[in-house]
Amino acid sequence: MQQEKFDIVIAGAGLAGLTLAVQLAQRTFFQDKKILLIDRDTKEKNDRTWCFWATDEEPLPPVLFKTWESCRFFSENAEVPMRISPFKYRMIRGIDFYTWAKEQISQVPHIQIITANILAIDPATGMVSTSAGDFIGNRIFNSARTTLPLLPEAGAQYPLPPISQLAVQKKEKQYTWLLQHFKGWIIETPEPAFDPATVTFMDYRTKQQSETRFVYVLPFSPTRALVEFTVFSPALCAAEEYDVALQDYIRNQLNIRDYRVEDTEFGVIPMTDHPMGPQVDRRVVNIGTVGGFVKPSSGYAFKRTQRKMQAFIDGWEKTGAPNPALLQSPRAFRILDSIMLRVLGDRLLPGHILFTQIFRKLEAPLVFRFLDEDATFAETLRLLNAPPALPFLKAAWRQCRQFFHV
Ligand SMILES: Cc1cc2nc3c(=O)[nH]c(=O)nc-3n(C[C@H](O)[C@H](O)[C@H](O)COP(=O)(O)OP(=O)(O)OC[C@H]3O[C@@H](n4cnc5c(N)ncnc54)[C@H](O)[C@@H]3O)c2cc1C
Repeated sequence: MQQEKFDIVIAGAGLAGLTLAVQLAQRTFFQDKKILLIDRDTKEKNDRTWCFWATDEEPLPPVLFKTWESCRFFSENAEVPMRISPFKYRMIRGIDFYTWAKEQISQVPHIQIITANILAIDPATGMVSTSAGDFIGNRIFNSARTTLPLLPEAGAQYPLPPISQLAVQKKEKQYTWLLQHFKGWIIETPEPAFDPATVTFMDYRTKQQSETRFVYVLPFSPTRALVEFTVFSPALCAAEEYDVALQDYIRNQLNIRDYRVEDTEFGVIPMTDHPMGPQVDRRVVNIGTVGGFVKPSSGYAFKRTQRKMQAFIDGWEKTGAPNPALLQSPRAFRILDSIMLRVLGDRLLPGHILFTQIFRKLEAPLVFRFLDEDATFAETLRLLNAPPALPFLKAAWRQCRQFFHV
C-alpha cells in the first residue's frame, strides 16, 4: 500500500508539538509544506496547568488564565522575603492553550491533524506507523515517544503505572535521575482563606524525609486555591503519602478546617541530565520533554518550549534549513544543571537548605534569569556563591569522576 507522504510529521500534539505547529502555521515561509500533526488524544480536557514567571515584555500565547504580581517563600521555620518584579507569576490552563493552538492551525489548509496512536517511528525510512495507518515524513518532530526506559511515558497522568516501573534504576552512573512528582488539590473554602494576589512559590514547612519536599499554593480567589505537594526524589511516593501531606499542610499551615476538594492534579516530570538531545538522526528531531526541553534543575518547561521553538523556526526561516542545535541549552548551563542535580541527587545539601540559601541571599529576579539561562556571567557567579561552596565542589568533582570513569 502507498503511504501518504508529508514534508513534516509532528508526532505528539501536546505543548511542544502544538507550539511547533502554531509557529509553522503563522509563517508564510512554510505555507507550501504539507504537514501532519498526530496525537492519540483530542486534547479537549484540561489535563494540566502551566505556571511560569515572565515579564510583561515577553511574548506569550494570548491565553493567560491568571497573573500574580507577588510570591512568598517559606523556609523550614520562617518566611524569606521574595520580590519578583519585573517578573510576574503566570498561569495558562492546558485546555485554553490546546483550543487556541488548534484554532490557529485550523486557519491554514496545509496542516492536517489526526487522532491516532503512534506505534513506531522508523528514522531510516521516515515511516510513522499509527493505528490510523502509516505515513512518511521527510522530517519528523517527536514529542510522543521515548526510547529511554527509565522515564515515565511522556504526558504520564494519574493513575500512574506501578511505582516499581517508575523507580529509577541508576544504570548510567554519570547521570543523575530524579523525578519531580506532585499532587495538587483545588480546594474551595466556605470562608475567605487565601490572599488571591500572592502565590506561595515554595513552602518547606513540611516533613523533608531526606528528600526535597515543598508545598506550592496558587490562589484563584479568597476561597479557592490549588495546593500542591511536590517532591524531588528518585521514585514516587506511596499514593496515600501525597494526600496525608496535603491534609497536614492545609490543616496546620493554612489553618483551614472546612474545605471541599474540587479537582486533583497529579504529575511527574523528569529531572535529569541524561542527554535527551533534540537530534535522533537526520530525519527525526526529538522535542519537548523527550528532546530535553525540561530544565533539569527546576522542572519548568513551558516558557523554554516557547523560546526554543521561536529560535528554531527563526533560524529555519533565515537559513532555509532546520538546525536542531538551536533547540539545545548552552553548554555552560547544562554543566551547571548537572552539578545542581548531583548536589540534590547525592543529597550533598538538602534541597530545602539549598533553595532557602539561594532565595535568602539573592533577589528572585536574578534566580529567575539564571533559570531562564539569561543570567550574565557576573550574575551566575553571584548565584554560585550563594549556597555553601563545599557541596557544589564535591558535586563537580563527582561529576568529573563519573564522566571520565576515574
Ligand atoms: C501535570 C503537569 C503539570 C506541569 N506543570 C508545569 C508548569 O506549571 N510549568 C512548567 O513550565 N512545566 C510544567 N510541566 C512540565 C512540562 O511543561 C509539561 O510536561 C509539558 O506538557 C511537556 O510538553 P511535551 O510536549 O513534551 O509533552 P506533552 O504536553 O505531554 O505532549 C506529548 C503528547 O504526546 C502524545 N502522545 C504520547 N504518546 C503517544 C502515542 N503513542 N501516540 C500518539 N500520541 C502520543 C500525548 O497525548 C501528548 O499530547 C508540567 C507537567 C505535568 C505532567
